[in-house]
Amino acid sequence: MQNKRCFLCGHKMAENGLCTNAGCVRSTPVPGTAVAEALAEEKEAEKPANTD
Ligand SMILES: [Zn+2]
Repeated sequence: MQNKRCFLCGHKMAENGLCTNAGCVRSTPVPGTAVAEALAEEKEAEKPANTD
């Protein structure tokens, strides 16, 4: 297991690929990236089924 570091601020990266520095732009997922899509899928799964 390797500890990745943010190339912007040098802070440690979380397992989901986001920077753990809340003040860094990379601490939030960028729309269109695999990370953002994965988070969106998680939210989708939490919704109650509504197939109407
Ligand atoms: Zn960072």
